[in-house]
Amino acid sequence: MADNSTIALSLDEVEELAKSVLVAAGMDEHGSTVLAGLVRMSERDGPRSHGLRMLPVYAQSFSSGYANPEADPSVERIAPGVLRGDGDNGYYQIVAAKARDELIEMARANGIAAFTCANCHHLGALRFDTGLLADAGLVALGVVNSLSMVVPQGGTRPVFGTNPMSFACPRPGRAPVVWDQASSMVALMDIRMAAAEGHELPRPAGLDPNGQPTSDPNAILETRSLLPFGEHKGAAIAFLIEVLGAALAGGTLSVDNANREAHGALNIKGGSTLIAIDPARFGNAAFEGYVQRICAEIEGNGDARVPGDGRLKNRAAAEADGVRVTADLMKQLRELL
Ligand code: NDP
Repeated sequence: MADNSTIALSLDEVEELAKSVLVAAGMDEHGSTVLAGLVRMSERDGPRSHGLRMLPVYAQSFSSGYANPEADPSVERIAPGVLRGDGDNGYYQIVAAKARDELIEMARANGIAAFTCANCHHLGALRFDTGLLADAGLVALGVVNSLSMVVPQGGTRPVFGTNPMSFACPRPGRAPVVWDQASSMVALMDIRMAAAEGHELPRPAGLDPNGQPTSDPNAILETRSLLPFGEHKGAAIAFLIEVLGAALAGGTLSVDNANREAHGALNIKGGSTLIAIDPARFGNAAFEGYVQRICAEIEGNGDARVPGDGRLKNRAAAEADGVRVTADLMKQLRELL
């Protein structure tokens, strides 16, 4: 029977545990430090589904030979505004860490610059990628394609991944605005959770075996066919991400998962693009005032809040009190050490 009791961990303990599991899984010093930092940020700000829970997935990707635990990625400037990364079959964040300073410098020089990355595995939550650029005073837009699970509007089989996108911009005197969202109506993790808890989803979020929209999580898990958010509009965004992510970068298309299945892997290998824009180069000296004004119109407007600000609340709580981890997950992680 599942043990639902929980254990408190500080963020330092989260990071140490993550690092130990990754090193035990064969990952090198640098890569394990980068990914352990990502696990810490995901536990701190959310989404926690991309935190400690990802560690068994990372470990399996190495033990099955699907991902390279000692990746030595390369980054090359192939045009004045284009930086191209090759992940050496390792994890995306390791390439991104290598590219970030150069991307920022290029955006400041040109006004706009893009970093694409192929041959790399699961990116995690996009918010940390775009958020670091906003911390440097830039506007950022990031996309990554994933594993085919989302059906095009009116279709019967998945074409797109849950393809997330993220946007971030500086906000005067406060933490940047940073949001990220999947292209599916409901995240796969939430469907799994509803199935485990034995309740229906609040609205139809996928197709049943007869190709009909359903809010039954078990039926959706059977077909692995999720509906896009916002009907045809979400499907169009998923399309855009497939092109800007996989096609532009030369990454794996969401429908091309044969290699992943052969390794029994759960992580995702796609393609990503991160666009950095320096607002100071766009000729509107009042840019920051515009952002402030847009946020002010949202805050205090009924129950509305600036998108993504929930992460700041999570952050304050996690920094003060740490996070609670289920005994089952702790047991699973200790078995990996
Ligand atoms: P949610 O629908 O939970 O949230 C989407 C965004 O909206 C978040 O930035 C959230 O931030 C914000 N938000 C939520 N509710 C409100 C509200 N009422 N008002 C204003 N803003 C709100 O996210 P998804 O389920 O779509 O995606 C979850 C995560 O999974 C993302 O981090 C995404 O990057 C990641 N992901 C990664 C994939 C990959 O392949 N690497 C694939 C798919 C998803 P907040 O609540 O903090 O304000």
